[in-house]
Parts: sequence; structure tokens; C-alpha cells
Amino acid sequence: MSNHLYDALLAGTDDPGAACLILADGGTITHGDLHRRAARIAALLADAGLQPGDRVAAQLDKSVAMLALYLGTVRAGGAFLPLNPAYTPDEVAYFLTDAEPAVIVCDPARERDMRRASATAAIFTLDDGGAGSLIDAAGAMPADRPPAARGPDDLAAILYTSGTTGRSKGAMLSHDNLLSNARTLCDAWQVTARDRLLHALPVFHTHGLFVACNTLLLAGGAMIWLPRFDPAEVIALLPRATMMMGVPTFYTRLLDRPDFTREVAATARVFISGSAPLLPETHRRFEERTGQRILERYGVTETNMTTSNPLAGERRPGSVGPALPGVEVRITSVEAGADGDPATAPAKRPDGEIGMIEVRGPNVFQGYWRMPDKTAAELRPDGWFITGDLGTRDADGYVTIVGRGKDLVITGGLNVYPREVEMLIDDLPGVLESAVIGVPHPDFGEAVVAVVAPRPGAALEPDALMDALTDRIARFKQPKRVIVVPELPRNAMGKVQKAALRAQHAGLFGGAG
Ligand code: AMP
Repeated sequence: MSNHLYDALLAGTDDPGAACLILADGGTITHGDLHRRAARIAALLADAGLQPGDRVAAQLDKSVAMLALYLGTVRAGGAFLPLNPAYTPDEVAYFLTDAEPAVIVCDPARERDMRRASATAAIFTLDDGGAGSLIDAAGAMPADRPPAARGPDDLAAILYTSGTTGRSKGAMLSHDNLLSNARTLCDAWQVTARDRLLHALPVFHTHGLFVACNTLLLAGGAMIWLPRFDPAEVIALLPRATMMMGVPTFYTRLLDRPDFTREVAATARVFISGSAPLLPETHRRFEERTGQRILERYGVTETNMTTSNPLAGERRPGSVGPALPGVEVRITSVEAGADGDPATAPAKRPDGEIGMIEVRGPNVFQGYWRMPDKTAAELRPDGWFITGDLGTRDADGYVTIVGRGKDLVITGGLNVYPREVEMLIDDLPGVLESAVIGVPHPDFGEAVVAVVAPRPGAALEPDALMDALTDRIARFKQPKRVIVVPELPRNAMGKVQKAALRAQHAGLFGGAG
């Protein structure tokens, strides 16, 4: 009897006394400690009534106990369902009604809301200091019960996608979806027991939880475990790290500080970026400052990681690299999302042409929780997942993302890929970054609008920016309006919130549409 994912993570080290989590206060949690905590939590979950396949919902701040809860859930045979602590009680109520968890773990302040949303679940608490009824009760449980038997196709987690349109969907991830990807990443990035990863990402998301934790646990390495991204703390602790993973904003915020120097970065062998586009400009500035080239990779919640720039070989700024070994990537003619019949094979686009990025492999999820129609619309019968991202692939396999399909602007019947316009605007003097969106327009259907943030201390003139683009791109791609804002709205993973910008500026041309 084996537990496909948990057994592999447990076997990641043959030295249970080796450091697993290095805390900011200097404390250390060993691999053995973490797995004992997980085993006690697993026993508690089982005694609370958790059956294999049941969901464990967790709305918690990042902590050692939350990581142990993830592992304990997998060990007990459950499916882990982490929720962003920023979600309001109303938002959480939707997830709980949809997922029907058997167990909920939350901050004590949220306990009453949780009870209101779920009459039947067992509820435990855990505060941001790692104390609460979960830990009290788990402390009295045995640590030697064997893991529940679970096969490769059994569910290990449900992650709700950020849901920029419509209701948020629960992506069902199996034991082998997670394990196969962790193995692939360990190989691709040569992660070993000697690595210490600086971990400042949230753990309710695929990046911080799976890309970072599964990979390091599988390799038997350690993580410098920080509750959040604080640039001063990261600069202080980086000299102890061999790797860092971050969203692009982490890197731009480090570059904003003069005390982020070549020496601070010198012990790290690789800096990895994902979850949102890394500007070529950030790539260049990072190399200038540290002498190191950031390694950018790409994935979505539903597929885990799919492409990566190489560890050895050319890391190309602006590109997310070739498909990872064992993962297939193709570019198809489906442009604006999954229209057409997913059962019909789409036409493939030639090298260099823009199209929909589709992905197939052992990393691709099992479908959306209780949404067979959505699953059928995005996951083809032959296993290809339609990511919703538009991109190109060069003859040598390097993939470049040009934007989300739903961010595509169609103006006067012509397609405008926001990324192409954003890259030109970002290159103009004084511009830090930009977001190009489509806004309802009475004549054109949609009009191209650019929302632009200046570099610190720079003053931007919308008219001057529009003039600067005049000879650079076709007229239909030029913004009809430029709006200067102090900064672009972003979510916790550093993604620019284009849906919020579209809503905010919907009335710009008379509110048509
Ligand atoms: P999530 O499922 O929350 O991880 O979001 C996945 C989305 O993030 C993808 O569909 C992309 O639009 C975006 N994304 C992730 N990694 C990258 C990257 N390296 N460059 C550009 N976009 C990315």
C-alpha cells in the first residue's frame, strides 16, 4: 500500500535530521520534524472523519503549520484546498459550498463565518503565530500511523483559479500531476539536498506551494521560510540561499534598492521567475546589477509548469523557454478562448505565428471540480489543455507569451495583441510599465487604451506618449487614449488586474457595450 505523492516527498531525504525549513528567527525545522507534524495532523484529520478523497479547506496565513497541514492532508488521503487569506467571508462561502470540505482550518477570527458557510465540516483553528486548536489536538495524536493508500490518479489538491471572468473554477490535481512535475523541475533545475531556496511566496498558490515546496522536499533540500516578501529581509538572508523563486515584482522591488548588490546575490546559483511576465528590461537590469540572468518559466494552475528557460544554455529575455521534458506544447489557431468544438483537432500554427498555447502531459489536471461543461470546453478528449494564453513558438522551440486570449483587443475587426503594444510603450523614456486593454467603443467595438505607470520621479504626458508611437506601429494598434496612473493594480501573485482596469475605464468612450 503506498501513497504516491507523500511517499516520494518523504523519501526526498535519507537524513531526517537535515534542515528543511530555516526560519527568519534562526530556528530550524528538520525534514523529520516536518513529517512528524504532518503524520500527527494526518491522524487527527482521519479521526475527525476525513475519508480518502475528502477536501481539507485551509484559509490561513503562511506558516510552518500550514505546510504541515498540506502534507498531512496528502498523507491522510485528502485533497488540499488552500484559499487566499485575502478572500472575504462571502467569497469563501462560495468555495465551501462548491467544494464541500470535510475539514476546514482557519484563523480563530474566521471560525464563526466558516461555521455559517458549512454546517457539517469539522473546523480547526490556526493563528498567524502557528497556535490554535489544530496544533493542540494534533499534539496528542500518534506520529506512526502509515500514510493512506493513494494511487497516481487520486486527487491531492484542488486549487481554485483566480477567476478573472465568471465563477472561480476548482482545478483538480492528482498525485501524479504534482509528483511528475516536481520530478521534472528537480531535473531541469538540478535541485539537490545541498540547495537552500529563499521562499517568500504565498503558499495558497501553485507557485509557492507546488513549484517551490514539492520540488525542494523531493530533492531533500531546505527552504529559508519567510512569512512574506520583505525586500530588506530578503536582502539580509539571500547570502544564505542557493536559489530564489519569485514573481517579477519581487525582482523589480529588489532592484529598486541600492543595497541589493552583486555580493548579496553571489551565493545564489539561480533566480527563477514566473506567474506573470518578466519584462526584458527587468531581466537586463538584474543582469547588470548581479551578473546573473533570471531564469523565467511558465505554467498555469491547471497544468503545473510547462516551459522553462534552461539552467545551462540560453536564457532568452521575454521568452518562457522551451517545453519541459515530458511536456508537449503546441500553438493552435484557436484564438479568443475555447470557441469551436474541443473534440475537433485545431489547426496548428507555423513557427513564429501567434496562436493559442495548448499543453499535454502527465502534469495536466483532471478537470474542473463539478464543472463538466467547463472541463469539456478547455480540456480536449485527447488530453490537450487549452491554456487561454496566446503565444508564439520559434523554430528552436522557445515559447513567447503575448497575453491572455481574453485580453486580446478586437478593434474594428482587427486583432491587437496587448503585449506587442505594451513592449513598445515600456521602452519609451520615463515609462516603468503599461497595460493595454480593450474598452467598449461605439465605432470600433473596442478601442485600444493604454494605462501607463511612470518610473519614480518621471512625469509622463499622455499626448507625448501617443505621438511617440505614431511611426512605430500600425495605426489600428495605437492607443486611442493613454491614461497615466501612479501604479498598475496587481493581485497577490503580481499579475496585473486587467479585468479591473477594463471595468474602471468601461465608460471612457460613452459607455457603449
Ligand atoms: P495561475 O493559474 O494563477 O498560475 O495563472 C497562470 C497564468 O499566469 C498564465 O495563464 C499566464 O497568463 C500567467 N503566467 C504564468 N507564468 C508566466 C510567465 N512566465 N510569463 C507570462 N505569463 C505568465
